[in-house]
Amino acid sequence: MGVSDTRTLSAIERIPREMFVADPFLDQAYENTALPIGCGQTVSQPLVVGLMTQALEIGERMKVLEVGTGSGYQAAVLSQLCRRLYSVERHKPLLAQAEERFKRLRLHNITCRLGDGSRGWPEQAPFDRIMVTAAAHDIPPALVDQLKPDGIMVLPLGDAIGICQELVRITKTADGIDIHPFLPVRFVPLVEGLPEE
Ligand code: SAH
Repeated sequence: MGVSDTRTLSAIERIPREMFVADPFLDQAYENTALPIGCGQTVSQPLVVGLMTQALEIGERMKVLEVGTGSGYQAAVLSQLCRRLYSVERHKPLLAQAEERFKRLRLHNITCRLGDGSRGWPEQAPFDRIMVTAAAHDIPPALVDQLKPDGIMVLPLGDAIGICQELVRITKTADGIDIHPFLPVRFVPLVEGLPEE
């Protein structure tokens, strides 16, 4: 269905998606559909994970930032392709569950933290690649700042209700950024700040 990069395909093969979905959805873990993960969030359908991963063209020595850890599934797939994966999530319970899964799968090159990922992770910047897994109205400027020259960022851009969103691939150039939309999608919104406890 459009995912042809062999490194991406073998990364997906190595990560058991059933470990990232809740019990009631176990029988659907290998269907090509998005599934609820708690806190009103969803894990993307596997095809979208594949296409976004492939679009990042990750090299094995790269440092990658993900915004929106969620279930941890996308982070786990990315961790197979890069040297180090940093991921930021704003919901504490989701983050705790994802970290537990990384431990069980012995994915030691993933580092997560609780926070507003639209501000990136300044202490670890710059990044070779950035993936945002929640939809923003505009490209968060902090993320462009934290991307290396010639770096690639993939994110869904558009409205919060998901009627009109597009995945875009951004390349940082000497004089700005190039933007290429490549797929209409429906993501949960990128929300600034932390939820009230
Ligand atoms: N990559 C996840 C997808 C989860 S859905 C997975 O594989 O399961 C998107 C996630 O982005 C949600 O968990 C949501 O809480 C998180 N999110 C939304 N806005 C955010 C922000 N500003 N900072 C960090 N995480 C955010």
